[in-house]
Formats: sequence, C-alpha cells, structure tokens
Amino acid sequence: MAIYANIIVDISIEKLDKTFQYLVPEELEGKIAEGMQVCIPFGNREITGYVLELTDRAEYDVTKLKPIAGLVDNSVSIEAQLIALAAWMRRNYGSTMNQALKTVLPVKQKAKQVEQRVIRLAVREDEARRQLALCEEKHQAARARLLRELLEQRQALDYSVVTQKLHVASSVVKGLQERGLVEVEAFTTYRDPVGHLARGEYKLTLNREQQAVVDAVWEDRRNGIYGTYLLKGVTGSGKTEVYMELIARVIEEGKQAIVLIPEIALTYQTVMRFRNRFQDRVSIMNSRLSAGERYDQYLRAKNGDIDIMIGPRSALFTPFANLGLVIIDEEHEASYKSETAPRYHAREVAIERARVNGASVVLGSATPSVESYYQAKLGNYRLLEMRNRVQEKALPNCEVVDLREELRQGNRSILSGRLQELMADRLEKGQQIMLFLNRRGVAGIVSCRSCGNVIKCPHCDISLSQHNNGKLICHYCGYEEPMPRVCPACGSKYISGYRAGTQKVEQMVQACFPKARILRMDYDTTRGKDSYENILQAFGNREADILIGTQMIVKGHDFANVTLMGILAADTSLHVGDYHGAERTFQLLTQAAGRAGRGDCPGEVVIQTYSPEHYAITTAKDQDYEAFYEEEIAYRQMLRYPPVWNMLVVMCTAEDYEVLKRATEYLREQIDTIIRAGAAGSEEKSRADAVGPEQNPTGGVAVIGPADAAISKVNDVYRRVIYMKTSDYPRLIAIKDGIERGISQNPNYRDINIQFDFNPMSGF
Ligand code: ADP
Ligand code: ZN
Ligand code: ZN
Repeated sequence: MAIYANIIVDISIEKLDKTFQYLVPEELEGKIAEGMQVCIPFGNREITGYVLELTDRAEYDVTKLKPIAGLVDNSVSIEAQLIALAAWMRRNYGSTMNQALKTVLPVKQKAKQVEQRVIRLAVREDEARRQLALCEEKHQAARARLLRELLEQRQALDYSVVTQKLHVASSVVKGLQERGLVEVEAFTTYRDPVGHLARGEYKLTLNREQQAVVDAVWEDRRNGIYGTYLLKGVTGSGKTEVYMELIARVIEEGKQAIVLIPEIALTYQTVMRFRNRFQDRVSIMNSRLSAGERYDQYLRAKNGDIDIMIGPRSALFTPFANLGLVIIDEEHEASYKSETAPRYHAREVAIERARVNGASVVLGSATPSVESYYQAKLGNYRLLEMRNRVQEKALPNCEVVDLREELRQGNRSILSGRLQELMADRLEKGQQIMLFLNRRGVAGIVSCRSCGNVIKCPHCDISLSQHNNGKLICHYCGYEEPMPRVCPACGSKYISGYRAGTQKVEQMVQACFPKARILRMDYDTTRGKDSYENILQAFGNREADILIGTQMIVKGHDFANVTLMGILAADTSLHVGDYHGAERTFQLLTQAAGRAGRGDCPGEVVIQTYSPEHYAITTAKDQDYEAFYEEEIAYRQMLRYPPVWNMLVVMCTAEDYEVLKRATEYLREQIDTIIRAGAAGSEEKSRADAVGPEQNPTGGVAVIGPADAAISKVNDVYRRVIYMKTSDYPRLIAIKDGIERGISQNPNYRDINIQFDFNPMSGF
C-alpha cells in the first residue's frame, strides 16, 4: 500500500490551506512522521516543507506524484513538534488540519519590531580625550558633552537618552559619526509586556506540606518518570509557591515551563510574584496584548530569551524547544476547553505535549474537576494534597438559609432575614461584605419559589428551558411540554424563570442599606481595559462597604477586611443545562466561601438556596470535597455521563432549517450504520459494557437525537445536535473518523457544517 504525504511549504498562516501531495519513497517508510521537515522537488528546484498528514488516499493523479527527496536533519525542530501536536489534535478532536494548525501556530506578524539604537566611541580613549579637548577649545559644546559622557560612562549610551537628556541633536551625532569618532548601532528588541513592572526580592521557605509536594514530583523526575500530578490544595495553602519552586528547578536543568492560568486570574499580583522570583525570564500572553506583542512573545520563547510563559489556554503552544514542566492552575475551570474546532481540552493536550517532550504536568486546584479526581483515583494522575492554609487561618463558618422558608414567612426580598442581620452587623463594625450573585446557568430554567422544584426532562434529568413559544424543551433529547401554570410538585403559583441582574440587586441592597457604599462588578462595569482591576483596587482600599458581583468576584482575590460573603442564588448553577451543574455549584460555593475571613477576623458565609438539601450545597457548606465527589461520581455513573462514560456531541449548523433537519436525520442513520459495522467486530466488548439492550439498541453506544441545540439559532444559523455515550472512548473517535470520511463526498452534507465535541464542558 502506497503512502502519500501532504506537505505544506510555508507555515505563514495565509498559506496553510495550500498543501501538496508527494509519494513517500520506500526508504523513508517507517521513518517519516507527521510534523517532520522534508526536502521536496518543487518546479525545478528543491525546497523544504513540513509533513502535515500521512495518508493512503491519493488526492491527485498518482502517476504525476513525485517522491520526497529526503528528511531535513533538524526534524525535531519546535515547528515539527507543534505540527505533530496539531495532527494529534486533529485526529483526537476532529477538525480540519488547517484549523488545528491555526490553533498551535501563531499568526505571523510583519508588524515592525521595536528598534533600539546605541552610541559608542569608535576610537581609543586617548584619542577621544584629545578630540574632547579640541571641541572644548572650539566651543563645540554639544559635541563635547557627548564625548565627555561617553568617556565617563565607559559604555554605549542609549540614542534617545543622548538626544533627549543630553540635548545633543542627531545632526551632531551624525557629524561625529562621519568623522569616525563614534558609531551608532541599531538592533531590534522585542516588546516585553511586563517589562515595566518592578522586580522585587524573593525570599521564602516552603513549609513541610509544600516541600513534600515538590519532593514527590522531583523524585519521580530523578527516576525518569514524567508524570501528571493533581495537586489538591485548599485555597491559601501555597500552591503558587510550589509551582515556582518546581519551575526554578526545571530551569536549572536548562528546560522551560508553561503556566496556564484562567485569564481572569492573570492579575498584576500574580505576574509580580513570578517576576519577583524569575525577573526578565518571564513573559505573559493574554487577549489584551496586541497581535504584534503576542508574536514577539512567541519569538522570545523560541529564541530562548525567556524560560516561563504564563497565560490562558493558548499559552500551551508556546514554542519552547525544551519544555520541562506544564502547570495548569485552577484546573477545574471550564475555560480550559476550547469552544471552537478543534475543541480541545488544555489538560489533555498538555499531557500529550509533555509526553513527547519528557515534561511533567501539574494540575492544581482547591476543588479539582470530577474528571481529574476520577483519573487520580484510577491511578492515571498522582494525587498530591495540601490540607492546611499557610497562615493557619480558620476556614469561615458557613450557614445555609432556606429561601422557601423565607417566602413562607412573607419575606420576598432578595436578602434573607439572616443575611440582612449579619450585613447590618458588619456595616456597623466597619467591616466589608461581598455579595455573590450566581448567574451561571441556563437562562430559561423554570423553578418554584415555594418549594424549589425545578422542572426537568423525565428522560435526561436536565432542566428544561422555556422557549419563546411558551413551551419547555430538553436540549439533550428534544422532549417538550407546555409551560405549567402552577408548580407540578406543590401547586404554588410562584413559578417562574428566575432572573435578577446585578444592577437590580444593587438597587435593592441600596434600598435596604441607604448609607452603605456599594461597588458593582459585572460584565457591564468591567468592559474597559483596566476597570476590572480598578474596581478590585477601590474595594481593597475600602472605598466601598459592599461589593456585588458575578463569578468574577469569587476568583482568588484576597481582601483582609471582608468578613461576610453572601451567596444570593446558590441554585442557578445547578441548572447549567448539562451534567456539570452540581460540580459548578460546588466549585463556585467553595471558592466564594474561601473569600471570607482572609484577614485576622474570622469570616462568615451565608448560602441562600431553594434546595438546602442538595448534596452540592450541603457538601460545600461543610467544605467536604470527598463527600461531594462520592455523590457526584455515583450520579455520573448512574446517568452515564463523563468521566465514567464518554460523550461525543456532533453539532451541525446551517442557514436553512429544513436542509439541516434532513441532513441530521441522515447523519443519524449513518452513525447507526457505522456503529453496527463496528459492533459486529466487538460484541464481547459491548457485553463487557453491561449495557441493557433496551437503552442501547446499537450495542455499547447510546445515540440520542438529533434535537435542536439549547441555543437553537445564532445569527440566523440553526443548530442541531446528536449525542453519543459509551464507556469506550476510542470507539467514539472511530465513529468521528467514520463521519469525517463521509463528509467531503456526501452531497447530503454540502450545505451544513459539522463539528465534534468530546466530553463537552458546556451545554449546546
Ligand atoms: P494558593 O495558590 O494555594 O491559594 P498562595 O501560593 O497564593 O496559595 O499562597 C497564599 C499566601 O501565602 C501568599 O501570600 C503566599 O505568599 C503565602 N505563602 C505561601 N507559602 C508560604 C510559605 N512557605 N511561607 C510564608 N508564606 C507563604
Ligand atoms: Zn413548588
Ligand atoms: Zn431529555
């Protein structure tokens, strides 16, 4: 069987679509791999290109294909590594090679680089002194000033300093240059987005728990084990210090490190901690950098000017030639999953990149994702724990308030009696309060304010959402029912969707406490470039008594004077419209609770909820991760959700709904065919899955849908989804491959777009 190689000759982004096919000659079979740089005949020259894909399908007339001439020696260049990673991502997540390459390679910027010029003496010192004397004699003050300064400083002077501070005109510099007395040298520098930040001192000794974690990772490395570690450490246990110690050691080995941090947590304080320890060897990536700045960071990493890159998901593709360590902080964050094709998870890609490079991966969190904890329990990740806060501060005291009870007692305010009481107390004492308005969740969910009941799909246990036509719809299976007038559980008429914005909450709180100074932080108030940090700073300076905000306020900001955290709607995140509801809720509540009592006064947390008995709430109240995990994993097992089972969503979009509907129905048939063909060969396997025939007519893989997506139309493009669930992950990849093979030739799919999402992190 002949093998063909699809090759690109230029990896500047505009040309990615252009690939050329070549024959793989016999002597290269088995040696050639995706990503490698090769020599190829091109016209009547020989040029180099990168292998994007090896395939057994000829795309052109085979007789006209030319063979590859040979491998380029530096085949393990960083580009080769990243292209191979892109190929891996394409295979595992489903996308075009082009999309995968655009994810891993930066957009090449022709933007001009910043140029720096210096002036230095071009003659020996005695000659320079002689010339200086001559200038002084002739009263050539500017020339004399420049020569004197160069003699005194004994080093090159910055051109702009000479012209601006010494007030020497450039014509004067030019004159001296022409007479051969000074020379001007220009070189390009890269923009350093953190260059303006001060560099402080670093001195700190790790405590015993921290040291044990560092030792565990290091011992493995000494034994040649480059593992994946799940560092479960309570907030304030000093995880960042552990990261920095590991990074310092990796750098000592001559290797580099990537630190992934959710963009929202990539604050000035965080960057400063790394700068204090590693000075100029650190850079950052974030969406606020200009394209030119970002490209400069890429080059600095590639040239070896920095050893550490800090940034969100995309920083994972920093072109370090000798990567030794990847840290993923707050590893449970949903932002580590890409929402565009290829829909990769940074954790999985980090592990793959680390595997190829011989790097270790450290996943850190106070509330690990259920997925990672499951992997740790299976022994795939090594679990390392830090149970104590560095400064031995007690965890805050947590109370749960039942909002149904409040309603029964006639309190229809957004603040429960208990919360109001505690707020009054704190205002009196001059202590600060944070109010967290949980807004995560599906907009349309319908719940009962009397009993807390949320209307769910009888087939999927997912909250139904209200549509404009008044119906309630499930977005996993398409089930629908009319909107009820009274609560089906208790008959109350207080049934509705719940929605109160932060602005509304601010008004209500202000009405309750007219003298309190209130700051609000939400999407609206933080749109400006620095407003997010400005609000936090103002609150930190005690310019307000109460900070009201959404998710943003629960992320890792320490305010010593905050002694009360009120969680206004703990429930909404229970109903995020997918199987992550309880997990998100537990994480948010635990994080929010961690915000109170960071200073010397003990903190108090009030959780207001309609479902006080829900395990996500009770375990968060007790700060008991283990108990939460046990409940949650049993639930996932029972309903066949990840991580116990695996899920593939095929999302199809089109402008014409009828075309989309027909295509997705056809796709469903095709999927069934692929599964049947695969099942014939793996009957033993599907029996091992212990799947009852009634739920799983296709054996081993449950297929659900097609149904309209939760957001069924975006910008006039309709969206429909098909879900598949199985315990057998490779099988899902095989199904994806089967679908992909059919897409390009099949006229049924001509007018629709198909995307894949494995183990989705959010609803559709
Ligand atoms: P986490 O990332 O786990 O929330 P941090 O690394 O931010 O914790 O540490 C919390 C605080 O404790 C920081 O102010 C940090 O400087 C301090 N800290 C961490 N480790 C030590 C240590 N060994 N000795 C003294 N202070 C420490
Ligand atoms: Zn009810
Ligand atoms: Zn359903």
